Amino acid sequence: MTLINTPTRQARRARARQTPAAQNQRLTEEIMTQGAAQAAAAAQAAAVTKGYLNDPELQAWRTDLEARLAIIHQHPEQNLGHLEEAIAAAAQEPLRLLAQRAAQAKANATPCQCHQCQEELTDQKYLSRSIDSRFGPLVLWRRYGWCPQCETWRFPADHALGLAKKAPASPYVQELSALLVTKMPPEQAVAVAQRLGLDLSRCLLHREAHRQGLRAQAWRAQTLAQLDTWEDLQQLAGDLERPPTQPFTLVIEIDAWNIRERGEDWGQTQALRQQGKKPERWHWVYMGTVFRLDHRGQTAGQRAVITQRGYVATRLGLDALMAQLYREAIQRGLGQAQQVLVIADGAVWIWNLVQDRFPYARQQLDLWHADEHLWAVAHDLYGRGTPEACAWVAPLLQQVRDDQTSAVIASLTELKPRLLETQQKQLQTQIEYFEHNAHRMKYKEVMAARKAVEAGTATAEQIKLAHQPLGSGAIESTCHQYQCRFKRTGQFWTTAGDEALLCLETLWRNGRWHELYPHAKFSAALN
Ligand SMILES: [Zn+2]
Repeated sequence: MTLINTPTRQARRARARQTPAAQNQRLTEEIMTQGAAQAAAAAQAAAVTKGYLNDPELQAWRTDLEARLAIIHQHPEQNLGHLEEAIAAAAQEPLRLLAQRAAQAKANATPCQCHQCQEELTDQKYLSRSIDSRFGPLVLWRRYGWCPQCETWRFPADHALGLAKKAPASPYVQELSALLVTKMPPEQAVAVAQRLGLDLSRCLLHREAHRQGLRAQAWRAQTLAQLDTWEDLQQLAGDLERPPTQPFTLVIEIDAWNIRERGEDWGQTQALRQQGKKPERWHWVYMGTVFRLDHRGQTAGQRAVITQRGYVATRLGLDALMAQLYREAIQRGLGQAQQVLVIADGAVWIWNLVQDRFPYARQQLDLWHADEHLWAVAHDLYGRGTPEACAWVAPLLQQVRDDQTSAVIASLTELKPRLLETQQKQLQTQIEYFEHNAHRMKYKEVMAARKAVEAGTATAEQIKLAHQPLGSGAIESTCHQYQCRFKRTGQFWTTAGDEALLCLETLWRNGRWHELYPHAKFSAALN
């Protein structure tokens, strides 16, 4: 430390010995030199009109590349991977220069007007900024000025280039940060980014991903505002890729899972523990999926696949879920659907909201949830996994599949007098579950259609019906996938942080990534 500091200290002492006049003179010279360098850089930048590499630069690239390749040729053990690395490494600096000049040319060509009100900016100045780009750090000069109409400083070139205020990431780096952090924890993302040729710090990745999540949320809020007017609703419904050629059923599945978040008391863990309180908090993430039944098919291995489907995910409560789900349903053909089928488990909150948002939808209880409730009674009466429990439950499971819910309720009611008081109470809860959901338990037709398809005797109508899901497995598996990312051991999120990430992940899954990153022409079916 002393070694490093010595020259500076000496210099300081030397300066202290100078007269005030000499000191002033020296400071003025320093400022002049710096100013001259800045002015030269600014003048050079202002003169750039296109992205280009001059002949000496191109020649330097070629020489460097050939030298790198020559070394690889001397090493028989090095493979194509080494060649790929060498070529990419040699191209890095020329590409960075090219990107910097092309961006500078675009900045220079951008009129110095307010992007919101087109007003000419006053008090114009020239300022540089640095940017983290796909090819490394860039320095850009751009004109800025005061918009008298909006009463704010505007940087038109930043707007034209897709750069945010006080955030150094280029649009590609913004996108990659969002994608990597959505798919993996930041510390892994840093290493993966490195292999992709991007030198991004954990801090930048995390901050940028969060900023992108907030952008995604703002975009979502904008699309939800489209539900407010009749004209917008009509336009949204009209935005469907192509009108349906034949009648279809729109399926909506709903489910929820828990997320662990740090609350406002984060950082006071010790104090909370001493008070005997748990510092962590659990919150519900509500999820839904929307798809057309004619987009659901089977793989050769009999696995159900859905070729096009929409997702929604939020931890901002049930109203937020329903608004998002409604919008997604409209975009997926709610207006044209011959029938709407909502499948969920027995939670009362779901059905109340479904009734409210989708009053004409047919409601269906997830078959496997119904089964679980019967198994719970069986285990309670005869012990978990006993042959008696299996023997007792089998005919009831069959009755559920035959749409004979009233027979199930009658069998359960008959049991009651033979039980202890506490068992009676538990049984009563299950009876009420079946009573409340009886009208949502219609499985017989689909069961018959599936059997007919297997036997090769199915009618055209039955072939269609056989695809109709009996349970909400599609959304349950989606929930599981989200959980894998969001519920990793030790992974804590803040409310704001996880909603932002949920929003990004959902945007990606819905194939609307390009809405946030127009440069990412994105059409691959991701589900
Ligand atoms: Zn303005």
